[in-house]
Amino acid sequence: MTILLLIAGLGVALGLAFRIAVLVLASAFAAAALFAVSYFGGASLASSALNALLGLVALQVGYFGGMVFRYLAGAASRAADVVPDEIGELDGATLPPLSRLPRPPAAPPVPQAVSAQALDERLVALLDHSPSFVLVLRGPDHVVEHANQAFRDLTGARVAAGLPLREALPELAGQGYFELLDQVFASRQGQKRTHVPVRLTHAPNGAGAPRIIDFVAEPIRDGGGRVAGIFIDGQDVTAAARADDRFRELDRQSQSTIDALAEFIAVVRADGTVARINKAWKDFAGKGRALPDAVEGANYLSACDQAAAGGDRDAEAVAGQIRRVLSGKAKHGEWEYEGGHPDGRRTYLLKVNRFSGDHSEGVVITQEDVSERRSSERRIEYLATHDALTGLPNRNLLEDRTKQAVERSRRSGQRFALLAIDLDNFKQLNEAYGHSVGDATISACALRIATAAKEWGDTVARLGSDEFVVVLADVDDAATAASRVARAVQDAIKMPMAILDDQEFTLSASVGISLYPADGERFDGLLKNAQAALHRAKALGRGGYQFYSPEMSARANERVIFEGELRRALSREQFEIHFQPQVAVDTGALIGVEALVRWRHPELGWLQPGRFIPIAEETGLIDPLGRYILREACLQSQAWRLEGVPPVPVAVNIAAAQLRHADFLPMVEQTIAETGIDPKLLELEITEGTMMEVSEPLLSRIDGLKQLGIRLSIDDFGTGYSNLAYLRTFPLDRLKIDQTFIASATHDEGSQSIVRAILGLGESLGLEVVAEGVETPEQAALLDRLGCRQAQGFLYGKPMPADDLVAWVRSREQQGRRQAGGEGRTA
Ligand code: C2E
Ligand code: CA
Ligand code: CA
Repeated sequence: MTILLLIAGLGVALGLAFRIAVLVLASAFAAAALFAVSYFGGASLASSALNALLGLVALQVGYFGGMVFRYLAGAASRAADVVPDEIGELDGATLPPLSRLPRPPAAPPVPQAVSAQALDERLVALLDHSPSFVLVLRGPDHVVEHANQAFRDLTGARVAAGLPLREALPELAGQGYFELLDQVFASRQGQKRTHVPVRLTHAPNGAGAPRIIDFVAEPIRDGGGRVAGIFIDGQDVTAAARADDRFRELDRQSQSTIDALAEFIAVVRADGTVARINKAWKDFAGKGRALPDAVEGANYLSACDQAAAGGDRDAEAVAGQIRRVLSGKAKHGEWEYEGGHPDGRRTYLLKVNRFSGDHSEGVVITQEDVSERRSSERRIEYLATHDALTGLPNRNLLEDRTKQAVERSRRSGQRFALLAIDLDNFKQLNEAYGHSVGDATISACALRIATAAKEWGDTVARLGSDEFVVVLADVDDAATAASRVARAVQDAIKMPMAILDDQEFTLSASVGISLYPADGERFDGLLKNAQAALHRAKALGRGGYQFYSPEMSARANERVIFEGELRRALSREQFEIHFQPQVAVDTGALIGVEALVRWRHPELGWLQPGRFIPIAEETGLIDPLGRYILREACLQSQAWRLEGVPPVPVAVNIAAAQLRHADFLPMVEQTIAETGIDPKLLELEITEGTMMEVSEPLLSRIDGLKQLGIRLSIDDFGTGYSNLAYLRTFPLDRLKIDQTFIASATHDEGSQSIVRAILGLGESLGLEVVAEGVETPEQAALLDRLGCRQAQGFLYGKPMPADDLVAWVRSREQQGRRQAGGEGRTA
């Protein structure tokens, strides 16, 4: 190798030929040595006689080697011409044989061991060994001076010396190649070499696989600087071109792939410049989104920084995300922001993902319009937290808000209130008029409650059916505020409501109030206690409100215990029926009895129906219990006949819940059949409230009862809705004046006139009327005066066990006999 370098150096020093000048290239030089070593091998260079020639040869080969090297090294950046331009100079208009190239005057003498002829032949042989395609053209017609073996092979030996290139390769005509050669030939001093890729095949008809050859054409100048010919050197770049095509195709593919996506996509290099963006992003650019637009080649990071400096928080966040991902602190980033869109405000989700290739690193930014997704998520969340009918928060959200209120109160030390609101009589209204009226009523009430509570600015929720809750937090005096809101809500509900065109409803609401922290420190406890207070408020009469007190939860607990015990009470025969006599006001004679149930509780003793009938109704236990009572009453009536009690009707109370069941009628029928009671001696009492439910099935059920031949009466008459139309519709036998009117009739004009009105009504409709709860002789006297024929009450007899009634009847008979035999009859 050292020797070769020396030889090469010597060759240069001699300045033997224009080629030598051409071939003095920095890159080629280094490569020349390398190539020469591999080409010749060390051993063949022993002969010193060929030293000079081999110096030239080494350079010549080095030139080609250099080209290979250049090609290899410069494949990626093919465009640049980094090598010197001029091929060199010729000393004549025609190309001299290679051996006769002029010698620079200052050059040292060339060893004369080899003849010029031999030298030429050697060079030609050498060129023929070169894998490059070499062509030397002469004159303006581009006559082939020399085509090396590789070139001849490539073109199927069509290129021969002395032939103009146009004739040799006619298929190249019309593609601008010859014009290019003309230009090279006409080029001035300092002209750069010209690259041109040419497609060539073995034969003019296109036989053989086409090759793509990268030709470099360089003018060959004579001593006067005029162009005498063209030196063409070509490399087969078919493989590279194919790879290039493939690369371009992949590039196109990836672009059209990202263009097909609806997401906005930008590829950003590590320095922040945009390498690529897709069509969606381009199309959207400048249409009013909040973030800066990405422009290919521009620096996206800087654009974001600039926007951030102008106060754009989103751009600032996005720039931060990109930097974090680029620095490797995060694998990916995400940012959601609201942006202006021509169609209104939209939500965009921006994602930053790192990518690293062999040569480059950067991020891929994708942006997606997630407005639809977000709005349906919001919708789902809304549905999960709000009541569908009223749009008020539901229990979930209420619980959440209460927790927040607890948190705030814990910090501030301030109390807050929870109000449980329930509409009175809603159930009856709902059952009487149907669900659409019920729903409309609930909606109207929701609005009223929300409006009444709004002033205090807090959560109003609907728990279900007709139950509402108001949370009053952040108020100075929670207790005072709560009672004000309770009253405001109650006043609002009381206003008549026009749900149906021809009918106005007047409702009322009861309210129970619990206070944090005294009545509970958590949502569940506060709600439970507010509801206990609500029950108390209901028990004390409609339309009131109550604050919770611990004794209420004792009641509430009792209720829970009762539920369990009630179930067992029936099988353990803890129920007993007592009977209260009904008498003729004038004679005091027994005209009927009312069956009233009692519960002999193992620990609590005798319990009145008011304590357990409502629970039995709510839990459904009323059905077996009601059946039991009816049966017992019928059996008792039969038993009394044997004991000499006059055959009077026995009245059995029927709860609304019983009447609602379709199997009620068959159950009554079966009981009559099984007990053998004369249906005329059985009376069913239905409260006025129940009669309100004028629904079609109920109507026909009541009709059906009548067909069985039994008696029907309306209990607690005067307390229900003043819809009297049903009195004419139903096949009734008796009205029972509610005891509240009797209790106050002697001292209250209003009550007395109601009693009078009911008596008048009974008379005009042909119904019997019985006064309930007669306790004093004054009341009895008044009723007598008013024309009331029947009475029931403690004055005559309390509800008593069946055996006691037999005794009561006997003593009455004796009393009657005494009176008949004595001073005569009194009331
Ligand atoms: P109700 O049907 O109005 O029964 C009359 C209630 O007034 C009875 O109360 C009775 O003891 C009471 N009472 C009778 N005379 C007087 C009086 O002179 N003064 C006063 N202050 N009260 C008098 P009780 O037995 O506690 O029953 C209460 C309610 O429980 C009944 O009201 C009825 O609605 C219901 N109930 C009673 N037994 C049954 C039953 O077997 N089935 C159903 N479904 N409900 C029943
Ligand atoms: Ca009754
Ligand atoms: Ca009654």
